[in-house]
Amino acid sequence: MYIPKLISGEYMGAYGLTEPGAGSDSGGTLTTADLDGDEYVLNGRKCFITNAHHAGVFIATAVTDKSLGSKGISAFVVPRDTPGFTLEPGEVKLGMRGSDWASLVFQDARIPKDHLLGPEGEGFKTFMKTLEGGRISIGALSLGIAAGAFDCATKYAMEREAFGGTLSDQQAVQFKLADMRVKVEAARHLCYHAARLKDTGASYGTEAAIAKLYASEVAMQVSYDAIQIYGGYGYSREYPVERMWRDAKLCTIGEGTSEIQRIIIGRAVLKAAKSL
Ligand SMILES: Cc1cc2nc3c(=O)[nH]c(=O)nc-3n(C[C@H](O)[C@H](O)[C@H](O)COP(=O)(O)OP(=O)(O)OC[C@H]3O[C@@H](n4cnc5c(N)ncnc54)[C@H](O)[C@@H]3O)c2cc1C
Repeated sequence: MYIPKLISGEYMGAYGLTEPGAGSDSGGTLTTADLDGDEYVLNGRKCFITNAHHAGVFIATAVTDKSLGSKGISAFVVPRDTPGFTLEPGEVKLGMRGSDWASLVFQDARIPKDHLLGPEGEGFKTFMKTLEGGRISIGALSLGIAAGAFDCATKYAMEREAFGGTLSDQQAVQFKLADMRVKVEAARHLCYHAARLKDTGASYGTEAAIAKLYASEVAMQVSYDAIQIYGGYGYSREYPVERMWRDAKLCTIGEGTSEIQRIIIGRAVLKAAKSL
């Protein structure tokens, strides 16, 4: 019913996991879903939800059994026009201003029982699995920003005149460009590797975390260096590199922060070491 509309582009979807008090620790979800006859009644709030104003349908997590911790969290499909479900505009953002976000507010929001996504209690697992794929996307987004900043900086260094030549004649600038190129290429390989694993059906969670962590931090470093190569013009809004730096910051936070990626990678390291 919803999938054909999502595939055709008639509907945009939105992913509702984060709450004001539960972000990295999303197992601490407070939104509740109580079964009442043939309907679930949802109460609570989600924040920072990308594309919320444009979405025709949402998925969201809510607690169906408080006694079970994260195993008592279920996933639901929430149609836009659900009674008791409203949106609140999001805060003004540092970057990614071309992308919408909003809070989802559930006040006795009633959805049909068959809008439970998967079995009760499996929602947290399903949402965590979805994040694994999303991390490859955030890695790719980071890579695009880093590659864009590198291209801008290279072009500018070849045009900007100083000390009887162009900036690119200075070895210090060439070294900076060389380091930027190396980081972009390394990020590209990590993202492509994780994507290839996913395509083949192999396990890819750790590789997605590695790609996301590395590429997002590279996007920050490369856009920062690009601003430096532009000098004062880089600090102005006239050129795109300051925007790239602001946009890149999201990539170290969304779909799990850099610290959370390190936790995932660290666990995988120890698990592999124990099995030796
Ligand atoms: C632009 C944007 C779009 C977003 N879109 C969505 C969306 O569509 N859907 C959605 O559900 N969410 C979305 N989010 C939310 C995002 O996933 C969360 O912001 C993120 O998971 C971090 O949660 P938090 O903001 O609550 O920070 P917190 O969890 O409070 O973390 C704060 C800091 O503490 C650190 N920290 C927390 N726990 C640990 C730990 N155990 N060890 C070490 N450090 C730790 C974090 O790394 C971070 O640096 C979006 C966020 C942004 C900025």
